[in-house]
Amino acid sequence: MNLLLLEILAKSETPCVWPCVGFAVVVLIIAGLLHKPKPSRCEICHNTINRKWYTWELDGKKKHVCPECNTSLRRKASKNALG
Ligand SMILES: [Zn+2]
Repeated sequence: MNLLLLEILAKSETPCVWPCVGFAVVVLIIAGLLHKPKPSRCEICHNTINRKWYTWELDGKKKHVCPECNTSLRRKASKNALG
């Protein structure tokens, strides 16, 4: 968090400020915990991804796919490359 903002909050005489800051910090921590980079589902077959996943850029969008779909996508890609 911005140090200057914290300083302003610390100097403020509003009694609510510190509980509010504490609340904001807790919310940020929870949001950070919920925002996991790991995708939960394959975006092609919608199977649950357990451990490994692959990122493919399809139609300009990044997609998380399971190992099976990665294999089939790779096969398709090599087919396209060969013409
Ligand atoms: Zn899949």
